Amino acid sequence: MQTLNTDVLIIGAGIIGASTAYFLSKQGLQVLLCDAGQSGTKASGVNFGGVRRQGRPLSQMPLAMRSHELWGQLSELIGIDGEYIRCGHLKVAFTEQDMDRLQAYNSSVASCGLDLQWLDAGQVHSRYPWLSRDIVGASLCPADGHANPRLVSPALSWAAQQSGTRLMEHCRITSSCYDGRHFQSETADQQRIQSRFVVNTAGAWAGNIAAMFGEAVPLTEIYPQMGVTEPLPSIMNVVLGVQGGGLYARQVARGNIIFGGSRAHSVTAGYARPSQQSVSMLLSRLAGLIPGIANAHVIRFWSGVEGATPDLNPCLGPSSTTPGLFHGFGYSGAGFQVGLASGEVLAQLIATGNSPIPIEDFRIDRFTADSGKL
Ligand SMILES: Cc1cc2nc3c(=O)[nH]c(=O)nc-3n(C[C@H](O)[C@H](O)[C@H](O)COP(=O)(O)OP(=O)(O)OC[C@H]3O[C@@H](n4cnc5c(N)ncnc54)[C@H](O)[C@@H]3O)c2cc1C
Repeated sequence: MQTLNTDVLIIGAGIIGASTAYFLSKQGLQVLLCDAGQSGTKASGVNFGGVRRQGRPLSQMPLAMRSHELWGQLSELIGIDGEYIRCGHLKVAFTEQDMDRLQAYNSSVASCGLDLQWLDAGQVHSRYPWLSRDIVGASLCPADGHANPRLVSPALSWAAQQSGTRLMEHCRITSSCYDGRHFQSETADQQRIQSRFVVNTAGAWAGNIAAMFGEAVPLTEIYPQMGVTEPLPSIMNVVLGVQGGGLYARQVARGNIIFGGSRAHSVTAGYARPSQQSVSMLLSRLAGLIPGIANAHVIRFWSGVEGATPDLNPCLGPSSTTPGLFHGFGYSGAGFQVGLASGEVLAQLIATGNSPIPIEDFRIDRFTADSGKL
């Protein structure tokens, strides 16, 4: 059996693993980035592409704000623009109660620097005449935006490789343990990897890796449902979300409107596809939000698999059982925007032992009985 030696083994080459690899390689560490399939083709490659801070809990704001800075340097980081644009994120309310909730949220994040702007019904309808007349108010985050995940996530792996990372695709880690000095890991095709550090960024499958080190995490799979219309005349100059969830939409430069909101269903473990029920629910919500596209043709529906935690916050930081092991998973449907900063945090933890931003709320052991949160 061949043994590969490296400073850091990263398990999972989605946006979190690739970003970690990128920042570690920049620091001069030897990095092996393994993926069971192809890099950036699971949640990181099939997501909605929303790059928004608005709507995130206060606990995620430092991470989201740092990511926002990094997204601003995307072209320099990954060599392409990834179709990233800052067109604004508009969260609309259909009822007075939802408007109150939206305003309460805005107050709670007032000190974070999101620059949120409150729009009443009249302002919404004069600025966005293509939106439903039933909207009673909205909150605009002008510097949020969207990007093409199919371009950004694989490009991040490419950028990591340019900085020295070795990427091994179709390389599933089947076991990993710590012998007191090194990690000894094995792949499905019988390769052995010895490393000083292991980073668990295996997305919806990260619970399996954590379990190898005796860390039980209540991680469940979720399957956000996506759809895309035929190319349409350009009408949307903002990414849309609805207070209370249920629908989000964006229009790309080619004219297609990408939308999502309900849940698909799992066919086999780790794979999901749209259901008839969720498709019709989503289409009727879309027609309610943007009446002018009610008759647009939808050319594709899809879904993806994402790991979710009970409090919808990720597990980001050191292991609670094993020195040298770090986790970055459980983003609960919202890890694309914070992916860049998450990788930077993991790289800093390995290189310096400290995180540049607070991650206490993301401890992996917060769900254990001892922490009092279960
Ligand atoms: C449909 C959908 C829409 C979404 N929309 C948004 C959005 O608009 N905005 C937003 O911010 N977030 C969104 N998200 C969430 C976001 O996509 C994820 O949080 C993020 O991509 C997670 O990245 P990851 O690297 O942790 O996971 P993944 O991209 O799933 O990567 C994990 C990788 O680990 C690999 N792996 C697993 N097990 C092993 C193993 N044993 N050995 C080696 N490799 C392994 C997998 O093959 C996979 O490539 C959405 C998610 C989905 C599914």
